[in-house]
Amino acid sequence: MSRPVPKPGILDIAPYVQGKSPVAEPGRKMFKLSANETPFGPSPRAREAYAAAAAHLEDYPEGTSRVLREAIGRTFGLDPARIVCGAGSDEILNLLAHVYLGPGDEAISTTHGFLVYPIATAANGATNVVAKETDFTCNVDAILASVSPRTKLVWLANPNNPTGTYLPFDEIKRLRAGLPAHVLLVLDAAYSDYVSRNDYEVGFEIVATTENTVMTHTFSKIHGLAALRIGWMFGPAHIVDAVNRIRGPFNVSAPAMLAAVAAIEDHAHVQMSREFTETWRNWLTEEITKLGIAVTPSVANFIMMHFPTTPGKTAADADAFLTSRGLVLRAVTNYGLPNALRMTIGTEEANRLVVETLREFLGRK
Ligand SMILES: *Cc1c(COP(=O)(O)O)cnc(C)c1O
Repeated sequence: MSRPVPKPGILDIAPYVQGKSPVAEPGRKMFKLSANETPFGPSPRAREAYAAAAAHLEDYPEGTSRVLREAIGRTFGLDPARIVCGAGSDEILNLLAHVYLGPGDEAISTTHGFLVYPIATAANGATNVVAKETDFTCNVDAILASVSPRTKLVWLANPNNPTGTYLPFDEIKRLRAGLPAHVLLVLDAAYSDYVSRNDYEVGFEIVATTENTVMTHTFSKIHGLAALRIGWMFGPAHIVDAVNRIRGPFNVSAPAMLAAVAAIEDHAHVQMSREFTETWRNWLTEEITKLGIAVTPSVANFIMMHFPTTPGKTAADADAFLTSRGLVLRAVTNYGLPNALRMTIGTEEANRLVVETLREFLGRK
């Protein structure tokens, strides 16, 4: 019997597995620390803007997300004409792959890179080439050594997820300079708002001054709007033009757009979240390290911890123990990290509970 057959590559894709959100045992409070969501939720003004949009649900949204592109432009000093908004940065990443990748092409991602990249690559019939990381950090030389005549695109999250590490701007510039001019460099800045290092830059300058680099960003993390699916990219005019040709004409919903405008303009909310995250990231890194569990130094709103392979003390054992206590972390085996767990920085209560529970797990009362 004949039936429709997916294009080559589609069925080779391992489906994306999202962070667990199990239901709490009766009487047990649950803390979801598995998806890098903010413990604060969005700005109250974003909630108000979202609710106000409910009065006009019969109207199509303005199709170019103009008010949001203008708000992003004001915030970062960017030309709104060079911004595209999407249903999450996931949509933007997929649109870029759709525009630039096809059968026979290669795209480079790194050992522990975000899993959306190889999916977007394979969905377009292209091949994902993995460049080795060093100490859980992207390695520019390894990426450059992975370039072949077929390479069309390089995916780079900076900071990286799930490792939490970053590359200084000098390294990004060295990467760009070392890549052939026809290779698109995609800088994914989903966690840039959390970074407080003076050798880090989001990459606006490199996008503004080259013809072959784009940066993507999201409202899902520090702005707390993951449920609304809203992200954006900043790129050269010719890339913006190509992406806009295949983008759905109404890809961003009006309530999402208006909530995002309010969120990005609430600088105090962002600042509070950034400072809280830094304080607790430092505290968690120190306390967990003291327990004898190695923590990769992170600049994002999550940390990655490494467990031994001793039976009873493994990452899977710790994950089960923490989950039974209502602390839901992220196993990262599918990121090639079977001995690690990723923890999103949560409320003070959640953070303290994780440390206490790990202490108990390790028998260090
Ligand atoms: C969370 C995350 C995003 C954001 O995705 P959205 O589709 O905008 O929610 C993008 N890149 C990385 C590396 C992420 O971890």
